[in-house]
Amino acid sequence: MTDNQDLLAMTHLGEDPSKYMKSVTPPIFMNSLHVFDSVEDYFSVDIFKDEYYYGRASNPTVTILEKKLAALEHGTRAVVFSAGMAACAAAILAVCKTGSHVICMKASYGPVQHLLNDFLKEKMEISVTYVDGTDLKDFENAIRPETDLIILESPSTLIFSVVDLEGVAKLAHAHGIKTYIDNTYSTPVFQKPLDMGIDIVMHTMTKYIGGHSDLIGGVLISRDDEFMKKIMVQRDWFGGVLGPMEAWLAIRGLRTLDVRMQRHYETAMKVAEFLENHPKVKHVYYTGLKSHPQYELARKQQKGECGLMSIEIDGSAEDTARFVDSLKIFERGCSWGGFESLAIAYTYNWSEEEQAFHNLNRSIVRLHCGLEGAENLIADLSQALDKI
Ligand SMILES: *Cc1c(COP(=O)(O)O)cnc(C)c1O
Repeated sequence: MTDNQDLLAMTHLGEDPSKYMKSVTPPIFMNSLHVFDSVEDYFSVDIFKDEYYYGRASNPTVTILEKKLAALEHGTRAVVFSAGMAACAAAILAVCKTGSHVICMKASYGPVQHLLNDFLKEKMEISVTYVDGTDLKDFENAIRPETDLIILESPSTLIFSVVDLEGVAKLAHAHGIKTYIDNTYSTPVFQKPLDMGIDIVMHTMTKYIGGHSDLIGGVLISRDDEFMKKIMVQRDWFGGVLGPMEAWLAIRGLRTLDVRMQRHYETAMKVAEFLENHPKVKHVYYTGLKSHPQYELARKQQKGECGLMSIEIDGSAEDTARFVDSLKIFERGCSWGGFESLAIAYTYNWSEEEQAFHNLNRSIVRLHCGLEGAENLIADLSQALDKI
């Protein structure tokens, strides 16, 4: 069951209709600046106290969204960005310095690894150790004196590995290392990493928080108010602020987040069970299945599962492509978290090197189960699997 406070945060928190002519939804403050009666007034603005002077620093519609997200993650402050990647980059830059060492999960979101490997290594001499992360020892063995940050994703979003969040948080704090998690898979409805000791939570709002495949956005949340103020100032300097229109869409997305997540979970469970028993499917990666090696840990940390899973087709990469191309309701596309079902032949064009790094072959398909209903989705998957 979803917490009562969460339900109120998603629906009403942060909003005050008396401030906007009793309108049941807040206005989109489509302004780049605010004007003042005096020089004194202008210079007395405090952006950390919901006061406004320029849209790159803060915006009233954006603030409503930030209040909801901070409450939902049990943090003190949230700062939203123009994309999930802008949020991720801001966290890394705020924590790390030249020469920092980072421990990152092997299964983390690809562009995060590109940012580390192809940019930060060269520009800031940041070194990275990639770990499997399913065993606490992986992290323990990777720690160095210069380790400043551990980057987590749990469950991860291709092979759905789960990390012992309390365990990693304890280990990291004993060594003065900050912990960061991409919590997009679970959304705040299903998992609260700050309650388990993690320092910084990130979401891309492009996925379930937006929920309608009509916006790009990201957020960072923590309980360290001073750190979050630093993040807010840093956002002002780099300029990766979320626009008021996107903020409003995300506020609208949050209103139905709970009901959508419950339905995605219910649908995906039925789909995963169907696929697990299908002869042309070699393996299903879904943390809701009892066959998942970390099923118990997932049950301890998460209240539920989302609509995302991967399967390994029992066939060649070409068979896999034929299956994906034969789908009719599942569209072929790279994102997830919206109303629509999506399929992507994720590893189809992977090099030998990438296949070896992740220990995966070219027959992996990632599926997002949208809101079209389990029966429709199972029928679609069934007819497409028959084409192999
Ligand atoms: C999509 C995605 C991101 C990046 O979010 P953007 O809003 O596209 O920048 C980060 N992490 C995960 C797990 C994602 O799926």
